[in-house]
Amino acid sequence: MYVDAHIHLYAEEYDGIREEVLKRAVENDVDLILSVAEDSETSLKNLELLRMYREKYKIYIGIGIHPYTAINNPDDLERVVDLIAQHHDSIICIGEVGLDRKYNNSMKMWDKQVEAFETMIQLSKDLLKPLNIHSRRAAKDVLALLRKHDVREAYFHWYTDDEETLREIVEEEYFVGFTPALLTSKRIQRFTEIVPLTQVLTESDGPVRYYGPLENRMGEPMHTKLIVEKLAQLYEEDPIEVTIMIRENFKRLFRIQYG
Ligand SMILES: [Zn+2]
Repeated sequence: MYVDAHIHLYAEEYDGIREEVLKRAVENDVDLILSVAEDSETSLKNLELLRMYREKYKIYIGIGIHPYTAINNPDDLERVVDLIAQHHDSIICIGEVGLDRKYNNSMKMWDKQVEAFETMIQLSKDLLKPLNIHSRRAAKDVLALLRKHDVREAYFHWYTDDEETLREIVEEEYFVGFTPALLTSKRIQRFTEIVPLTQVLTESDGPVRYYGPLENRMGEPMHTKLIVEKLAQLYEEDPIEVTIMIRENFKRLFRIQYG
């Protein structure tokens, strides 16, 4: 039973094939799917998807403001805060939130990102909802803010920064996500020497596309099985054991109660 801890299921790339994607996920033993949002509009779409599919599939959602939105549409922060307050019973995480140094083209822009992220951190703590974090080229900054606010529950989705910061993330007992980039990137494969399996999650980050065996295919939950197979090989563990552990990690972090 595989898990997809970070996907954008509302993405228009899935329009017309969304139900097929979910069916394929079930057929390939993916049973926990977490769709994160980027702004108020996609947060509302997630709420709608939850209403539509929750009876049939084990879909979970997050609401959040992506650093890209924090810069390009800063007024949206207030709407996202309202949505979280209103719908906190329907979400299992605050996300996708965080910081991105790639967008850091001015000090003012950086301040907007930090303001949005700190607002999300506060909500995460008040509502006991873990953070689903974007940290591209900014993992050190993210880590500093998590420490400043004494955050205990955080997931670094698709970690790509340096190994030294990764070691500190592991020490703080945060969770770290692997995407299908693990199949082809030696650099990311080396991260498995740092992160213990008890802190690992898998994700497609769909509809992102990857190189290697998944070339030309849109990311979807069933690809998490390939990540687990690769992890089993790298950690030299039984794939079934790895699958069970990652599923337990997901349930522990996001407080999923059932079986
Ligand atoms: Zn994402």
